[in-house]
Amino acid sequence: MSRFLNPAYQSLDAYTPGEQPKDTVYTKLNTNESPYPAGPKTVQAVCDETAAANLRLYSDPDSTQLKRALAERYQLKPENVFVSNGSDDILNFAFLSFGQDGVAMPAISYGFYPVFADLHHLEAERIPLEEDFSIDPGKFRNKGKMVVIANPNAPTGLTITLDDIASICESDPDHVVLIDEAYVDFGAESCLPLIGKYKNLLVVQTFSKSRSLAGARLGFAFADPELIGDLERIKYSTNPYNVNSITSRAGVAALSEDDYYRGNAGKIMEERRRTTEELTALGFQVIPSLANFIFVTSPDIDGGELYQKLKERRILIRHFSDPAIAQYNRITIGTPEEMDILLEAIRAIIAERGES
Ligand SMILES: *Cc1c(COP(=O)(O)O)cnc(C)c1O
Repeated sequence: MSRFLNPAYQSLDAYTPGEQPKDTVYTKLNTNESPYPAGPKTVQAVCDETAAANLRLYSDPDSTQLKRALAERYQLKPENVFVSNGSDDILNFAFLSFGQDGVAMPAISYGFYPVFADLHHLEAERIPLEEDFSIDPGKFRNKGKMVVIANPNAPTGLTITLDDIASICESDPDHVVLIDEAYVDFGAESCLPLIGKYKNLLVVQTFSKSRSLAGARLGFAFADPELIGDLERIKYSTNPYNVNSITSRAGVAALSEDDYYRGNAGKIMEERRRTTEELTALGFQVIPSLANFIFVTSPDIDGGELYQKLKERRILIRHFSDPAIAQYNRITIGTPEEMDILLEAIRAIIAERGES
């Protein structure tokens, strides 16, 4: 028990972020960051001296320029756009704003969803995945509550189709369907074209993964103007200056060099293909991923043990304690050099086990 904390939050089980070690240099394949630096225009925008001096001014609470740039890039209107301090922040607003009848989510998905439900005292219905970790969209129709699905899902990398999403939206028009597209730029299909059709669809994306700006904290969402207005009202009731002026500049600049980031996403997709192939040859089972990570298991080595042995070799991957996926590890796709380091270490670990 904490002496000062509101009793309503005493049992809150907070989200555990992936390790960000300060002690040693690791090959870091654990938090799905981009292995490639922010693009030259993005860097220039952040380093601008006038912009730095202008930090004395509050940032634009309407994020006018950024919303305009996002609307242009995704062929929607600024009224369809919401931006905030990372997409986690948008998820928080969405749970707070639309979760009053409860929230349905896949039992295995982004670990922050149940935390937000808990934080806002919403009933979380965790719907089991199928045997192969896929999502059965039928189980998300007619829920009578908000539905949250990551597409591609985390940590599996598996997707559902636009028809599936449309059918979920259609089945329960009075509740929000939130599709978290944090990983959509690595080969999946975005459901943005459905925005005009379904007033209850909220699509959330981020600059953290495909656009190399995890540290800048910039997330964005698209929906019908009515839903965006609801989010704005909550934002103006908590933190009107939710996107700082330097991050806003970074976002606009990043959108102006989209080819650079698309090129990086292409390199990551190619590396995902190669790593999948090599791990499969080593006896691993690799779930076919459309994200910048792969979810893998091996009949020859325990999931937790592989994580530990790689950590001893200064390579970080992500292991989850949930018994349903404890035999698996999530590996972020890095540069070809980083993946070579990983593959070599895994070969050595397997060989060592063969000897003992
Ligand atoms: C990384 C991630 C986020 C959070 O992204 P930020 O914009 O950095 O807050 C949201 N959803 C999923 C599924 C993610 O993997």
